[in-house]
Amino acid sequence: MAHLVTLIPGDGIGPEVADATRRVLEVTGVEFRWDVQEAGAAVMDREGTPLPNRVLESIRHSRTALKGPITTPVGTGFRSVNVALRHELDLFASVRPSRTLPGVPTRHPPLDLVVVRENTEDLYAGIEFERGSEAAGRLRQELRRLGGYEVAEDAGVTVKPISVTGTRRIVTFAFDYALRNSRRRVTVGHKANIMKFSDGVFLRTAGAEATAYPDVEFEAVQVDELAMRLAWEPETLDVLLLPNLYGDILSDLCAGLVGGLGLAAGANLGWEYAVFEPVHGSAPDIAGRGVADPVAMVSSAAMMLRHLSERQAADAVEGAVAEVLIEGEHLTPDLGGAASTDEMSRALARAVRTERRAPGVPA
Ligand code: NAD
Repeated sequence: MAHLVTLIPGDGIGPEVADATRRVLEVTGVEFRWDVQEAGAAVMDREGTPLPNRVLESIRHSRTALKGPITTPVGTGFRSVNVALRHELDLFASVRPSRTLPGVPTRHPPLDLVVVRENTEDLYAGIEFERGSEAAGRLRQELRRLGGYEVAEDAGVTVKPISVTGTRRIVTFAFDYALRNSRRRVTVGHKANIMKFSDGVFLRTAGAEATAYPDVEFEAVQVDELAMRLAWEPETLDVLLLPNLYGDILSDLCAGLVGGLGLAAGANLGWEYAVFEPVHGSAPDIAGRGVADPVAMVSSAAMMLRHLSERQAADAVEGAVAEVLIEGEHLTPDLGGAASTDEMSRALARAVRTERRAPGVPA
């Protein structure tokens, strides 16, 4: 039976890597019914919102989406579609693996890290007070009244909520993930010495929940020290469990450790829905030039195949990525090659080896 999947090509290089990914998926022999849904900057101009309801309805119906990156204006303009999707669909867990890939040189011994990031709370909860607004003025007064806090009159304010309930489910998710994937250790990153009432909740809840998993080692590290360890000896780390903001920053760092954003795949998971997307953004600097690396989105699609219980096809796609990287003949410029997105995706499709390969497609 064909899998119904919502496909959001996204902005910038999104449509380029989405087309490339479809080409690779099509030769796996797994059948898809794609519900293609536009979202993002161009849709904002046409429909007055970058995330129309039809997109959410499509995912609520299909339960699974493959998504390209979507541009978020910096400092002003519409709020992040990515953040809104995670909130609306309660996609509370972000999973971003960073594994050394064959043929891709790195500065460290072979790495196999996974960032598990809380996806709905923290400074990304969207509770913001604009500098100079009436609400910001009232908030300043309340803060003075409640705790004697003095906030500068010209300050904008972003609130950082971290709850026991929100933390508990991501901690359980991270430890279950560790057990299912034979991982030995979960390292939680925090700054609970400074932010006692937000990161403090994350750290204490993580410590309490960890006791239910005696077979997985639990380690707590301050996030600044964790950044140093990632640069210095990343091979000592395994699963990183992080609140939203630190997870966002450190997962890009981890991507850099194993070859860059062009290779880093990700999944946003909740109890009901799953949205698979590359870690990278819309890359306006290279959009439209046909040189974007398709591997991050193709590998996100491999994660999706596993989620859809298409294990053989997922192995075949990951095998194709490894083969093309080792062969080194069809690499995009970020990997030191001169191939276009199109050429690399054709090479990836040719390298897919599965018994269920689509009929008429030569191996
Ligand atoms: P970016 O990831 O788009 O680009 C950072 C650098 O990496 C650029 O030099 C870019 O050329 C390169 N790069 C990224 N993906 C690549 C690929 N597949 N192949 C080759 N090179 C690649 O980050 P940015 O420039 O900070 O963000 C651009 C826009 O994307 C912003 O509007 C941002 O908000 C948005 N964004 C969206 C998502 C998402 O949709 N999940 C994630 C991150 C950023």
